[in-house]
Formats: sequence, structure tokens, C-alpha cells
Amino acid sequence: MGFVFPVYFYGLPKIVYDFASKLDVKNSNYIFAVLTKGGDFDDVAFHQLEEVLKSKSKSLDAALSIRMPANFYRKDPVTFQQQLFKDSKSKIENFSKIITSNKTCFQLVNKDKKIDKYFKVNYKFHKSVKESDKLFYIDENCSHCGICEKICPTNNIKLNDGVPHWQHECQQCVSCINFCPESSIKYGNMNFNNYHHPEIKANDMIFK
Ligand code: SF4
Ligand code: SF4
Repeated sequence: MGFVFPVYFYGLPKIVYDFASKLDVKNSNYIFAVLTKGGDFDDVAFHQLEEVLKSKSKSLDAALSIRMPANFYRKDPVTFQQQLFKDSKSKIENFSKIITSNKTCFQLVNKDKKIDKYFKVNYKFHKSVKESDKLFYIDENCSHCGICEKICPTNNIKLNDGVPHWQHECQQCVSCINFCPESSIKYGNMNFNNYHHPEIKANDMIFK
């Protein structure tokens, strides 16, 4: 069994935490996790997943953390982005060999004050994430294309006369912001960098 997910707000996305909590893992004898992160944080997410698994008398056998370009406030230089893609490819190839042979490749770092602090920050984020979409709005460049409505993984955006409205079921994945072709979606007074992986197109993100 494998969990593959991004880090949101220092830890597990709420949707992943909820999914893992409900999952029946009793017949899984080998469990791995792969996370992507736009910064330095992975310890909190791994600890959270371990806690969920521990409550089901299981634990991670293998885990891989991959640094990808940041897609939030900061923009990594293009040359650095390309280096990250290159590094991730070889990491994934090595990890594939590990998990296909059911090898153990994971040691959890000790939980310290720093991890504890970001644990709390992430759980606070979980409590308010659904309604965090109240800060979304569009500017005058919106072309009413409907991509944001189609791309949202939680069906949280409904177009009304071509205008997006957020329904308070948000997970803060920021796909709507990053895939809007007009860079029209804004969030409070924050500046997002409208980054997404150069090889991934909006259509690749639409599963419905
Ligand atoms: S994706 Fe952007 S341009 Fe298209 S409807 Fe949504 S906000 Fe408007
Ligand atoms: S696409 Fe936008 S509205 Fe939908 S979950 Fe992600 S951030 Fe929230």
C-alpha cells in the first residue's frame, strides 16, 4: 500500500489525513509513502502518517521525500527547478527498486520541539481549511472559461453566470490559482507565483 501526497502547510493535507484515518490497512503487509514538498518540511507529515498507522497497529516500511519547486509565495529560479526535476527522477527510480522488492527504507526522525510546533500549526490549518476559501476572489481578467470549476478536486467552485463562487469545501491545494489561464484568481492580499509543473496541463488535472 502506498501513500503519495504533497505537503500542505508543513504537514499532511487534511484530505489525506482523513483518507488515511478511514482506510482499512489490516491486510497491508508493506506500506510506503512518497511526499513532495516545496520547502524543507517533511518530518511533520511523516510523523502524522505514522501516528495514523500506529493507531491501526501498522507503520511505514519505506518513505521518500522529494523537493519540488515551490508553488506558493516563493518562486524557485528555472535552473533550480530543472535541477530538482532531474534529482527527483533518479530518486524515484531508486525508490521504485526498493518498494518493488519490499525493502525497508525509513527511519523517522525524533519528534522535537520544532516538529511539535508545526504539528500544532498543521492541525490548526486542518480545522479552518474548508472555509479558508473566503479570501478567494477574481479580478477583471477572468475569461469565464470554467477551468477552475473543472479542476477543483473537491468540487468547491461553482460558476454562476460565468463567475466562480467558492463553496467552503476547500483544501487549499491552490490548483485553481495556479491553473487559471488568466492568473485571475487572487487570495486576500497574498501574491501567489502561479507555478505548476511545466509538463502538466489543466486537462491532466481534470478527473471528472
Ligand atoms: S479559470 Fe480563471 S479565467 Fe477561467 S473561470 Fe476560473 S477564474 Fe475565470
Ligand atoms: S482548487 Fe482552489 S477551491 Fe478547490 S480545493 Fe484547491 S484551492 Fe480550494
